[in-house]
Amino acid sequence: MPDPLNNSYYAATANAWDAQPAFAGEGEYDVAVIGGGFTGLSAALACAEKGLKVALFEKETVGFGASGRNGGQLIPGLRWSMREIDEEFGRERAQAIFDLAYGAVGRVKDRIARHGIRCDLKAGHLEAAYKPAHFDAMQRDAEFLAKEFGWESEIVQPRDMGRHINGGGYHGGIYDPRGGHFHPLNYALGLARAAKDAGVEIFEHSPSWLGDANARYTIMATDNWMQDLDPALGRYTIPIMNYNIATAPLTNWQDYLPSDAAVADSRFVLNYFRLSADKRLIFGGGEKYVQAPPADIAGFVRKHIAEVFPSLANTPIDYAWGGAVGVTMNRLPHMGRKGNVFFAHGFSGHGALVTTLAGELLAEAVTGTMERFDVFAKLPHRPFPGGKLFAQPLATLGLLWYALRDRL
Ligand SMILES: Cc1cc2nc3c(=O)[nH]c(=O)nc-3n(C[C@H](O)[C@H](O)[C@H](O)COP(=O)(O)OP(=O)(O)OC[C@H]3O[C@@H](n4cnc5c(N)ncnc54)[C@H](O)[C@@H]3O)c2cc1C
Repeated sequence: MPDPLNNSYYAATANAWDAQPAFAGEGEYDVAVIGGGFTGLSAALACAEKGLKVALFEKETVGFGASGRNGGQLIPGLRWSMREIDEEFGRERAQAIFDLAYGAVGRVKDRIARHGIRCDLKAGHLEAAYKPAHFDAMQRDAEFLAKEFGWESEIVQPRDMGRHINGGGYHGGIYDPRGGHFHPLNYALGLARAAKDAGVEIFEHSPSWLGDANARYTIMATDNWMQDLDPALGRYTIPIMNYNIATAPLTNWQDYLPSDAAVADSRFVLNYFRLSADKRLIFGGGEKYVQAPPADIAGFVRKHIAEVFPSLANTPIDYAWGGAVGVTMNRLPHMGRKGNVFFAHGFSGHGALVTTLAGELLAEAVTGTMERFDVFAKLPHRPFPGGKLFAQPLATLGLLWYALRDRL
């Protein structure tokens, strides 16, 4: 039966990929990577490039999780601004975090170029202010980022927003030419192809549990499924369901997004959208804090399209899908080590770029180089309170409060 959450534009336009065999229980490896999303694929590829013998286990098919379903928005940095990071951790750590988090853009572009990955990469990301106060804060953050870390982006005054977007009534924004957007599933498949070419053995339809492969090291890259492998680690994230649609191709796309940039607004429960290669509007909006999808995903997202582009309120929707965003308490990625097991998860909606880097840091850590890995591994984290039964409801209450605050 087709997965009701994966009637995606991405699955329908995926590049050719040969199905990989299921694991037959044989083989000896240096590294077992569990999870075939961006994190696991990047880690496996980087480990193989270091000369290690690697097996990657994916319980479904490559890109099945968030990596094959996301909004495709390439947003440089983390969920925290560099101003917040600098205030919290001091300049020395902030500089190290900056180097990695913003350097992640180059890691993805390098993989795409080096392996010839066809994933419709386009330049330009706009963060759009939902309220005037958001624009004030964005400008301060952008100025700080440019002055203190040398990362220049363009402050777009409200009167100039029409260069990028006609709709939404936004109060200005920040345009980052180094950000952009891509076809995430085709990026994942491209990484998988590169990993195979580098010697990684990929097993699909092969759920793996810690220790069932004969490997010296294990990398856990299962994001929202971490609790199945290690319940204690699983408590550091909760899944937040998020839904996307793709319209039929728009002939008049310039009327809506003339610069073809990806756009994300500044609300806590944000709307984010962009144009595909064939000029469909790919739109994500609304979150649900329970696992069950809405009966009508397209209808659920359509209300949000109408808020931004009223004239597209009834435009045909060809695809609708969803997935779970793995979110940590403080919205920073959670990485670390437990003996010979290394893990990274909880990219909190900013995983399209940082996961490729995280995979490379995991590979460095496995081979004993900890400096860059430790920059992330030392970020402070707490598990969601309330244990297995109550973590999600308690977190939901907190999140609903933030969502409500945006409406006030
Ligand atoms: C709807 C949606 C929109 C998003 N939009 C954006 C965006 O626009 N920009 C952005 O930066 N980020 C976005 N994100 C977040 C981003 O997609 C994720 O942070 C990122 O893809 C996480 O990659 P990953 O490899 O860590 O996890 P995943 O891609 O989820 O991969 C984990 C894999 O592990 C496999 N697995 C789990 N358990 C086992 C097991 N026991 N054995 C074997 N395999 C197992 C799963 O099947 C899955 O394929 C979005 C996420 C969602 C859901």
